Amino acid sequence: MAEITLDNLAHSYSPNPKGEGDFALKELNHVWSDGEAYALLGASGCGKSTLLNIISGLLHPSQGRILFDGKDVTQATTADRNIAQVFQFPVVYDTMTVRANLAFPLKNRGADPKYIAERVQRIGAMIGMEAELDKRARGLTADAKQKISLGRGMVREDVNALLFDEPLTVIDPHMKWELRTQLKSLHHDFGHTMIYVTHDQTEALTFADKVVVMYDGRVVQIGTPQELFDTPQHTFVGYFIGSPGMNVIPATVTGKHAIVHGNEVELARGYDALDGKVEIGVRPEFVRLTDGPGLPVTIRRVEDVGRHKIVRADLFGSPINILAGEDQSISPDMTHISFDPARVNVYVNDWLKHGKAA
Ligand code: ADP
Ligand code: MG
Repeated sequence: MAEITLDNLAHSYSPNPKGEGDFALKELNHVWSDGEAYALLGASGCGKSTLLNIISGLLHPSQGRILFDGKDVTQATTADRNIAQVFQFPVVYDTMTVRANLAFPLKNRGADPKYIAERVQRIGAMIGMEAELDKRARGLTADAKQKISLGRGMVREDVNALLFDEPLTVIDPHMKWELRTQLKSLHHDFGHTMIYVTHDQTEALTFADKVVVMYDGRVVQIGTPQELFDTPQHTFVGYFIGSPGMNVIPATVTGKHAIVHGNEVELARGYDALDGKVEIGVRPEFVRLTDGPGLPVTIRRVEDVGRHKIVRADLFGSPINILAGEDQSISPDMTHISFDPARVNVYVNDWLKHGKAA
């Protein structure tokens, strides 16, 4: 297992990049702790696979270094880095049995046959394929083949890190949950450094200790699910995480107040004069519907989603989402909203601004 350091790392697929826009991965400096389970979360095209492939050694970065436990591995091959990687689509040996596929990485490294047999049996059970171990991979469904790929990724206990690139895409929804649980327990039992790429926030938040959120080639925040919820460092984190995501509202801010279309909104902290695009971010959980005073809204629609209601409303011509309790009745005289001041974040050019305690 290893601590992974990304030192001054950046990557462009273009041989002579002209500017930042030509970089699929903008400059990164991070240390990822040994034995931690990370989810790499972001929309399609934001650079997740690029980063993962640089860590595994499939791709050489155009700038910077990767260190495992302080040792520079930038030029090392994937095999030398001692990493297991599972891809989005199955990679299996069709002519071999499921058992032989699972045994392959162990056999390759010259493991003891008795150990291989036991380990393969155990992994077969984890991926729910005990009964199919002696079948050839050829005739199996894509779903089953992907389970083999996953199993092969998990079979070695001595890897430095386990990397997964959207591995459950072709897996049916029920099995998805089951396999994610297995991966979690694998992490719990062996304490491997794990990096799990996904564009699905639920997957990221349930799998990982730490979620690394990427946006447009940048890591915009690394945090626990709670940190991402409470203090999104970037507006993207705010609206990408949460259902619905954080409301982002243009405002001006002076001292302990934000002004939204001439209406004063109280803040818990004070701010010096702010330059740039100023917005406040408030999660739907911390917006309350009232009959005034506050900011005037028009309710458009109420969606009952079980444990709560999502109220879709209009605030000065822009949509705003409000979360109401399941038992809360929404009445026509609720024409205003107010915010919990402690839960109002201030953003300048999309980045969180830390105010001063009053
Ligand atoms: P993600 O995995 O988050 O969907 P990728 O890392 O695959 O994102 O891609 C990041 C950016 O790099 C995208 O704009 C993509 O089009 C570009 N890209 C990915 N692979 C290549 C490649 N082999 N050559 C050129 N551009 C690429
Ligand atoms: Mg990808």
